[in-house]
Parts: sequence; structure tokens; C-alpha cells
Amino acid sequence: MNNNLPLIPYPNNVEIFENKNQIKFSEISFEKAENIFQEDEYEIKIIDGKISVKFSDEQGKFYAEKTLLQLKNSEEKIPDCIIKDKPQFSYRGFMLDPCRHFLTVDEIKKIIDAAAYLKMNVFHWHLSDDQGFRIESKKFPLLNEIGSHRKNSLFGRTNEGKPHGGFFTQEEIKDVVKYCGERHIEVIPEIDLPGHTIAIIASYPELSCKKEKIDVCMKQGIFPEILCAGNEKVYEFIFELLDEIIPLFPSQYFHIGGDEVPRKNWKNCECCNRKLREENLRNFDELQGYFMNRIESFLSSRNKTPIMWNDTLKSGKINSKTTVIQHWLHDKKIMEDFISDGGKYIESDFFHFYSDYPYHMTPLKKVYSFSAEKSKNLLGVETPAWSEYIRNFDKLSYMLFPRICAVAEIGWTKNENKNYKRFYENLKYLYPYFKSQEINPADLKLVNPNTLKRLGGTIKYWCSKR
Ligand SMILES: [Zn+2]
Repeated sequence: MNNNLPLIPYPNNVEIFENKNQIKFSEISFEKAENIFQEDEYEIKIIDGKISVKFSDEQGKFYAEKTLLQLKNSEEKIPDCIIKDKPQFSYRGFMLDPCRHFLTVDEIKKIIDAAAYLKMNVFHWHLSDDQGFRIESKKFPLLNEIGSHRKNSLFGRTNEGKPHGGFFTQEEIKDVVKYCGERHIEVIPEIDLPGHTIAIIASYPELSCKKEKIDVCMKQGIFPEILCAGNEKVYEFIFELLDEIIPLFPSQYFHIGGDEVPRKNWKNCECCNRKLREENLRNFDELQGYFMNRIESFLSSRNKTPIMWNDTLKSGKINSKTTVIQHWLHDKKIMEDFISDGGKYIESDFFHFYSDYPYHMTPLKKVYSFSAEKSKNLLGVETPAWSEYIRNFDKLSYMLFPRICAVAEIGWTKNENKNYKRFYENLKYLYPYFKSQEINPADLKLVNPNTLKRLGGTIKYWCSKR
């Protein structure tokens, strides 16, 4: 153990003493000390094998319990020590995408439990995309009858040759939100707008510019069929839909996507052109800004803060005071402008945090190497696991674990307290717990391929069947 404790994420203040006693995990004294400790903070003292815990609030207590559980599960002899700990960032998230390939509630709960074990506190639930609409709507039943099912799946060069579908009932959503709440995890839903909406358009073709009947999408990619930004009926539809979904999620945030929006159909649409003139917009980029801001105002009126992918900033005029940006790709300059204007953001850098790319492209060590600098603008970090090529729970387990552990530690542990060697050594203590959750993480020998293997593997990935 080399004078480190078997913990991930590693605590921010640790004092380790010489003596090792048999620890009685069944006899712990808890004391609430809200005046001494800050939000989420806790202190564990292990002296002569006896454990005493002080905590600030229920989260602090929960995190102390997770720390003790990890110590116990390690089956190592734990030295006397004092741990005084709180997270670096208030946002430590993971994103699941049941749109491309569906996940059951039971599968999602397994990931939630594992994330709670890592003291993560945000589950970003991507619920609508081109390939499927995944939340029950009673107001718009065709979203489920048509939009939740596709005829086939043709992602990459793989033809699955069978229909694929499913959606979460509102009761299931409430159940998952409650399950997360008991684990101090906030659930942020995402309805991706105005792009990535083919499942919505397949259900209600009148919401697109061309108003043509199309199928729920069967492939991966970026497609020109998006919601019409010039048609007032589209806004009415969105507001009604959001009003149905908002009460299911207590989070202050609501993710509305805004990524990958081709302007092609807008340019050829009479309605969109009219809107451009009426609103004195200079171009179709600004039309997206107009669209996002309409939804932002609506969400504000419902006391919700929208989160948008950073692509949205290209459409200008995004209110940095009322919108949170999730950064994933490019646009360093535009991001800097948004931040210097006081904007808040979540870091999901594509090259470090995307858990759906193979270990050849994003090795564990590379994930861990990301240095998230504490600032008042950065809320925290999140790992997305998109599922175009993650076709089942086993693959999801393999891709997300152990990279999610690195993201958890980046979110919790200050840069000066990070240590890759210690982190990597400690992973073996977590694996039995993950396996007890039926999560099969990637073999630790395979998560950091050497340069040659990385190059070969990356070429193979892009050229082969995925
Ligand atoms: Zn249009």
C-alpha cells in the first residue's frame, strides 16, 4: 500500500500514523458538526482502530460512509489516520445515452451505485436523439409510439438486422430520480434541440422545415433534418413538452443540447427566412442563437438553468449569466470569451473525457492527466458515454470502467493531491465492488496500450467494423 490509503477519489487531507490495528467497522461514532465543517465536508479519525466521524451535512456523512466502505472492502490493514476531506468541484458527473442503444432501469442503477461509490454526484441522462426518443410523453404519445422505435441499427459498418426500441415511463423516471437522490446524485435530463431531433420529427413531421414523413434514424452521424426555427408551432410544442418533463426532475438544470446543428434546411425554408427578417438576424447562425434563447427564457420562467453544448456559442448572443455551457470540442477562443464574460461551464473535453472511444485513443493515463484548474467559472467535470458503438451493458461497463474512476478523482481531488501511480495501484481495490454490481471493467493491463499499439488500434478502430 506504500503509505497510501486504498481510496478513489483520494482524499484531500490525509495524515497517516505508524500503528495498524484491527479496525472495528461495525462500531463508528457519528457527529454532526455543521458549524465547523463546510458543505460536503467530513472528517474520519481512526485512532487505535476506533473510528469516529464528523460531518457537515447529509452529503458529508454519505461521503464519509463511502470512504469507510472502500477502506473496509480493500481488506488491507489500515493504519491509524486522520482524513479531512471535501470535493474540489461541486459537479462530478457521468452521462449515459440510452437513445442509440437502450439501457434498462436495472442497468442504469448499477452504474449509479458504482458512481456513488466514487462520490460522483451528477447523472446526465441523454433522453432524446435522432435514433430514439426515450421518455414517456402523455401529451405527445406519438413520440413513444413512433419516436421510441427504429426499424434497424446500422451504426458503423454493423447491420444489427433487427428493430430496436424502448422508453422510460414517467414512473420509471421518478424511481431513478429517487434512487439517485438517496445517493446524493442529481439527475439532469437532456432533450437535445434543435438538432438531433429525427425521432421527434418522425413522430410529428410538421415540426421540421420540409414537413416530410421520415423514419427514426438508424445510423450514427449529423443529419440535416432538424426542427424548424421559424414555425411558432415548434416553440409551442417544445414548451408543452418541457412543461410535462420538468416536474419529473428536481434539478435546477435542464440540458437542451444545441450541438451539431446543420443550417442547410433552415436556409431553404420560407418560415425560417421570414423569422430571420422579422427578428433582424444577420444569418442562420444567429437563428440558432434566437432559438436557444427562446428556450432559455422559457426555462428561466420555470426556475431552471439551461445547459448547452459549447457548439451553441458559435450562434452568438448566448446569455452567459443564465446559461451553463458544457465544453467538449474546439472553440477555445469562443469559450474564453464566454468565461471572461462570467459564464459557467462543465468540462467534458473530447480528448480526455469521452469514454466511448477505445483505450487506444483515450488511455486511462491520458484521462487522468487532465488538469482541471479550480476557478469560479468551472463547475466541474463529466464523462459522456455515447452509445452508437456501445451496444450492450457489458460493453458499457468495459468502456466506462475504469475511466470513470479517473474522472471521479479529477472532480474530487485537487491537482496537487493527484498521483497517477497511487491511483492506478488503488484501482484493484475497487474492482471486486464493481464486479459485485455485475460491472466488468476493462483489464488493468489493457487500459494503457503502448504507442505502437495505440497507433495500430486507432487505425483499426476507424477502418474496421464497429
Ligand atoms: Zn424552417
